[in-house]
Amino acid sequence: MNILIFGPNGSGKGTQGAIIQKKYNVPHIESGAIFRKNISEGTELGKKAKEYIDRGDLVPDDITIPMILNRLKEDDCKDGWLLDGFPRNKVQAETLAKALDEAGMKLDYVIEIVLPREVAKLRITGRRLCVNDNNHPNHIAFDAIKPVEKDGKLVCRVCGGDLKTRADDQDDAAIDKRHDIYYDEETGTMAAVNFFKNLGTVKVISVDGRPSIEEVTAAIMKELD
Ligand code: AMP
Repeated sequence: MNILIFGPNGSGKGTQGAIIQKKYNVPHIESGAIFRKNISEGTELGKKAKEYIDRGDLVPDDITIPMILNRLKEDDCKDGWLLDGFPRNKVQAETLAKALDEAGMKLDYVIEIVLPREVAKLRITGRRLCVNDNNHPNHIAFDAIKPVEKDGKLVCRVCGGDLKTRADDQDDAAIDKRHDIYYDEETGTMAAVNFFKNLGTVKVISVDGRPSIEEVTAAIMKELD
């Protein structure tokens, strides 16, 4: 099963992605998480990407596109994948579609979590990252994924690991820039979503991201085989 998931930063895309990943037992490939791992490990790729990420800009396509296309060729992707955070613009969408075509691979679903921009922004500052696992979503404002308290500090509700915030989640200008890119229908992420809608060869599941996590999950699962 090959799936793309779209949603603005703060839409719950990562949370839903973690749930969908379990359903199909496919790797959850998050472009942003790959960049963050490279930054924390001090790799060349991380050094190149950091300045863009801190500002909320897209990392250039000539870095991002090969990174993701190569990741999809790895062994754990042979029975499917869930791609999250890529494609992020129209060029990436077109390039991915072409690469899949050439590899004889089919896209099964595109999931779009629809959320008004002002709601997405409010949600961003409350999320927390588990240092042990990206698929352990935590958010201080949502009961279903609230961190737990241990020895006077908040820790991951799944594994008890330490939690951290993302620098680009606490920076107003970086949040706005990421949303400018997401909601841009000309060349940005919405242009990528519309590209797949217009293709007509892949089922696009659009769900309202405003209800509870469980309700959004149910709306997505209803449409998936
Ligand atoms: P995310 O974790 O999806 O919010 O991504 C964090 C940051 O990583 C973004 O703001 C971009 O700077 C960078 N990034 C993630 N995915 C992409 C992509 N597909 N193309 C370019 N930059 C990306």
